[in-house]
Amino acid sequence: MKLKLFNTLTRKKETFKPLKDSEVSLYTCGPTVYNYAHVGNLRTYVFEDILRRTLEYNKYNVNHVMNITDVGHLVSDADTGEDKMEKSAKEEKRSVMEVSEYYTKAFQNDLAELNIKTPVTWCKATDHIQEQIDLVKKLEENGYAYTIDDGVYFDTAKFKDYGYMARLDIKGQRAGARVEIVEGKKNPTDFALWKFSPKDGTKRQMEWDSPWGVGFPGWAIECSAMSTKYLGQPFDIHTGGIDHIPVHHTNEIAQSEAANNTKMANYWLHGEFLIMKDEKMAKSKGNFITLQTLKEKGINPLAYRYLLLTTHYRSKLIFNWKNLDAAISALDSLYEQFKKLDNAGGESNEDFEKQFVASINDDLNTPKALALVWKLLKSSLPSATKRATLLKFDQVLGLQFASQENIKLEVPKLVKTLATKRERARRAEEFEEADRLRKEIEENGFTVTDTANGPRITKKK
Ligand code: AMP
Ligand code: ZN
Repeated sequence: MKLKLFNTLTRKKETFKPLKDSEVSLYTCGPTVYNYAHVGNLRTYVFEDILRRTLEYNKYNVNHVMNITDVGHLVSDADTGEDKMEKSAKEEKRSVMEVSEYYTKAFQNDLAELNIKTPVTWCKATDHIQEQIDLVKKLEENGYAYTIDDGVYFDTAKFKDYGYMARLDIKGQRAGARVEIVEGKKNPTDFALWKFSPKDGTKRQMEWDSPWGVGFPGWAIECSAMSTKYLGQPFDIHTGGIDHIPVHHTNEIAQSEAANNTKMANYWLHGEFLIMKDEKMAKSKGNFITLQTLKEKGINPLAYRYLLLTTHYRSKLIFNWKNLDAAISALDSLYEQFKKLDNAGGESNEDFEKQFVASINDDLNTPKALALVWKLLKSSLPSATKRATLLKFDQVLGLQFASQENIKLEVPKLVKTLATKRERARRAEEFEEADRLRKEIEENGFTVTDTANGPRITKKK
């Protein structure tokens, strides 16, 4: 069964054919490190991890590059407003460097807890200023750049097919009487390649000299410069969340292709959003849930991973506690069943494996792959075969079945008694007492969570 992926460029499921026989070049847009990642952001990184693991399951070597945006991402995607990094540094009374280091570490920690594989190369925008300046120079030489008071801009009217991937209605946009926010821009869709530092005397923490004047790079230029540096052009696959289609990725394509005269990437994959009650999760909307929020409730991050796998990456997923509760119970049950399987060797089952490959190779159909896990456990296959097959599936699912075998949670008698008392208090609606008992349980190094199947005790993280 050949691997098929939905390509946003063509809006079709295509048979995947890499440039080289056994290696795949993959660029995944990384986070802007001015705050913690929210669970919505993390959905995109889990989808990308499933993509990478699926490629590896298909025996490709994956050269995976992820950037860290630590400059140039402005509060508005339309090249106006403060730099998100500078704003956060001001609010937190720290240097931009400190903010960047702190949230980069927090992000990498989140990836590890979700069992997301580490990219082969991490690259930071501020470590590649020269490469970005060189790219802007090239665009200037090729006649795509112009300089105005505010900075150097890309002239989108000069680039044939600008907005093709996003199917943007450029004519409509150009004809529309939209008031320009940046004075001097030739077309509404033109975007900044290099922005000048403010002329009103406000001092930026991050600014660099350039042939055009002191300033900082535009948001998308880093991805064009770094993907070319580490993967060449064209490369195989470029990914991100769907919000990147109309602006960020559209601009990356324009810059890279105008500079190098070749296609940027052959396949573009985009993950749908995680939404909360009909609204997308956004840092500004007060519905900001992080992995830490889940951990504080005693939830295993892998239960969140399981929840994400229950929905296809191109469908919206509504986040609510009920769905997460169901995922917690489901994963618990899988772990329990797995622990009981015979671990005395055993070969995986070919028929199930074939069905599994057919699911993941069909544009990463994880809901189908999970259904297969349950079917396998219910089947009449020998216990050791089930175990071996499940471990193979887990190379893609990444739910860490193997490590569960070693975890035998020893809950001290005192904690068990406290948990029973707490449950009694909770049922009697004596919430103050229940809260006090929860705290006592935590003081003893454990966490109690209420799930659909009753209270669950886990080790405090
Ligand atoms: P940012 O740090 O804002 O650049 O976003 C990091 C990644 O998360 C990008 O690939 C976004 O497309 C993605 N993203 C942002 N919000 C959501 C959401 N609610 N659901 C899924 N992905 C998201
Ligand atoms: Zn990018």
